[in-house]
Amino acid sequence: MFKWIKENKIVIIMMLIFETVALSLFLSTKNLFYLLNFNYIGICVSIGIYLMSHKVKYARNFVQFGVGLYMLIYLGVICRENMQIEGFWYYLFLGVFEAATIHYFVAKIAGPLFFGRGWCGYACWTGMILDLLPYKTPKSDRKKLGWIRYIVFLLSLTFVSSLFIFKVENIENIMFWSFLIGNIIYYILGILLAFIFKDNRAFCKYICPITVFLKPASYFSYLRVKCDKSKCINCKKCIKSCPMNVDMLNDSRKRRYGTECILCGNCIRNCPKNALDIKH
Ligand code: SF4
Ligand code: SF4
Ligand code: SF4
Repeated sequence: MFKWIKENKIVIIMMLIFETVALSLFLSTKNLFYLLNFNYIGICVSIGIYLMSHKVKYARNFVQFGVGLYMLIYLGVICRENMQIEGFWYYLFLGVFEAATIHYFVAKIAGPLFFGRGWCGYACWTGMILDLLPYKTPKSDRKKLGWIRYIVFLLSLTFVSSLFIFKVENIENIMFWSFLIGNIIYYILGILLAFIFKDNRAFCKYICPITVFLKPASYFSYLRVKCDKSKCINCKKCIKSCPMNVDMLNDSRKRRYGTECILCGNCIRNCPKNALDIKH
């Protein structure tokens, strides 16, 4: 029993985190939705991590679709909640701590201090589709285009703040349509960039405005890929298999593209010496 707990420590911690969030929000708001919502996401993520640790193929895709489709179709389209960054600004300006503000706090602002960019590897509905494209590992060097994300970030902030400044009517409806149109644009752009740069995650590397929140917090992430140098034979198979160009052989927080790691586990699976693992 003790051995099982030790082997599945990350799965248990992850489930406990989501359960704590679910219960805290349910008890403070008396809203059953939070209990069901965070339990569902926690169960999906925990099952996915468990399956991944047992080397089950497509385990990560299972979580991506389980969480991503739920958020995109159920929360976004059916419940009409804008879960994109515009929705975050919208609820923030309203002074309301619900929907996108809670989602951003848990997945993209506070959560990354524990699980880094796990959101990008296991739950994002944009990444979910990009990961199905043919260029799973980048076929060319990384471009110096990361500055574009800051422009997109500012544009989203300007767009929503303008709606409030100019007292535009029916903002809720505008938020719903901007969610739909924004996602269509993201998918088209993401797929085009993947083919242009021969890199599935080009959109994540250069365009996505959410990384402005994710990158600083994930620098301090508790969970990180680390290398046991006593086992490593320096074959670099890990680096070649990384979709985000991370130098995971360097354990320092300042390692090259360290804040880009999405904890996908590709490097771990491709290491012939079992020298890599996700640790704290
Ligand atoms: S970088 Fe953006 S688009 Fe890519 S997986 Fe993360 S949140 Fe999704
Ligand atoms: S794949 Fe494993 S053995 Fe090869 S360089 Fe990476 S950590 Fe070292
Ligand atoms: S391959 Fe390894 S270092 Fe690269 S993103 Fe995936 S888990 Fe992180």
